Amino acid sequence: MSAPAQQFDVLVAGGGLVGASLVLALAPLGLRVGIIEARARPGPAKAHYDDRAIALADGSRRVLEAIGVWPLVAPHAEPIRRVHVSEAGRPGIAILDAEEMAMEALGWVIENPPLAHAFEAALAHEGTIERFQPATIIDLEAGAEHVGVEIDAGGVVQRCSTRLLVGADGAGSTVRDRAGIGVSRHEYGQTSVVTNVTTALPHEGVAWERFTPAGPLAFLPLQERRCALVWTVPAGDADTVLSLDDSAFAERVNALFGHRLGAIERVGRRQAWPLARVLAKQLWRGRVALVGNAAHSLHPIAGQGFNLSLRDCTALAEAVAAGIAASDDPADCGALQRWADGRIADQRRTATFIDGLNALFALDLPGVGLARGVGIGLFGLAGPARRLLARYGTGVGVPLR
Ligand SMILES: Cc1cc2nc3c(=O)[nH]c(=O)nc-3n(C[C@H](O)[C@H](O)[C@H](O)COP(=O)(O)OP(=O)(O)OC[C@H]3O[C@@H](n4cnc5c(N)ncnc54)[C@H](O)[C@@H]3O)c2cc1C
Repeated sequence: MSAPAQQFDVLVAGGGLVGASLVLALAPLGLRVGIIEARARPGPAKAHYDDRAIALADGSRRVLEAIGVWPLVAPHAEPIRRVHVSEAGRPGIAILDAEEMAMEALGWVIENPPLAHAFEAALAHEGTIERFQPATIIDLEAGAEHVGVEIDAGGVVQRCSTRLLVGADGAGSTVRDRAGIGVSRHEYGQTSVVTNVTTALPHEGVAWERFTPAGPLAFLPLQERRCALVWTVPAGDADTVLSLDDSAFAERVNALFGHRLGAIERVGRRQAWPLARVLAKQLWRGRVALVGNAAHSLHPIAGQGFNLSLRDCTALAEAVAAGIAASDDPADCGALQRWADGRIADQRRTATFIDGLNALFALDLPGVGLARGVGIGLFGLAGPARRLLARYGTGVGVPLR
């Protein structure tokens, strides 16, 4: 690689929700920070019925508050006041209630475009971050003191060097691949079918999780009396579900859901997400670190992926600050190793929780259904267990930095 044009302390590849969160968390450190994002900057926000949404834990709201994004998205965020968990054909329900937990909301549901615009505005406001967009990282050369990086910006190849390169470039990460970090991959044999629906009755801030023989259904409250629906089906059933017309789809979903919100009056465009768990075998190597989907793609059953990634980012910003303080190096080995130890523990806990939940409700073995019903029933009764799940699920008990 020839001589670099620009030098950075930290360069982040991938400017999705996670990469953008990381650079905003790094901004107060006063380092030379850059970000490379393949997609063009978003145009003016235009609400669309079919916009995809993401559920954020309350702990994530506090991270977004700290990086200056929350005030921009708050008007678009629908609070989750209650979570209602049930299983089709079995007794017992579990209810988590924000008021009971002395919280304003258990979490928040936000459509992706206002979230992307809030990040865009926060990045534009933070004048110190160098942005390469649209541009892709195409290669890297790891050295002892720096990583050389090759960027393709509209057919023009630029070279930079950085003391720390962070891969936030998604599940198919080029950075991870070029750094020689392998992955372990598990196919769930399931596909999430995602759409927005309008129901006859208002959702009143309730998020519904319903386990059914045809897979778990989640209804998340959105603005304008809509719900974001995530229905996870065996991979082999996905095409059939996608080919149903709107009224057949609504009927099928509502039969499984038990008509809890009345008739489904409108169904949006359906999208399918085949599900796999992809975990990087290392979170850092030399001067390269991985965050977000580049480090871990998880099952969306508990909506934890971005929440977990925000914890990656705040902890990495702390590790960079610690590295600068200890050895004037943002890629200080000791600081990165402590960061990775903490992140691996959190990722394993989260992945185990998610896979356990998925496996429990995917099984249809004699006795297991009964155990599930009893489990949900007990969970409904037992305050400490319920509070623990709410604490975990909402990120309340998770350190932010
Ligand atoms: C159906 C479904 C529902 C979900 N629901 C939730 C939820 O409710 N709550 C939650 O917390 N999580 C949820 N998740 C998980 C969440 O969507 C992910 O954790 C999150 O989007 C990961 O973001 P990321 O920035 O790491 O990756 P991505 O969103 O994949 O972003 C990667 C970015 O890198 C860019 N890029 C890629 N390659 C290059 C390159 N070579 N050079 C430069 N840029 C590059 C891409 O353009 C992209 O912008 C859900 C996931 C699914 C599938």
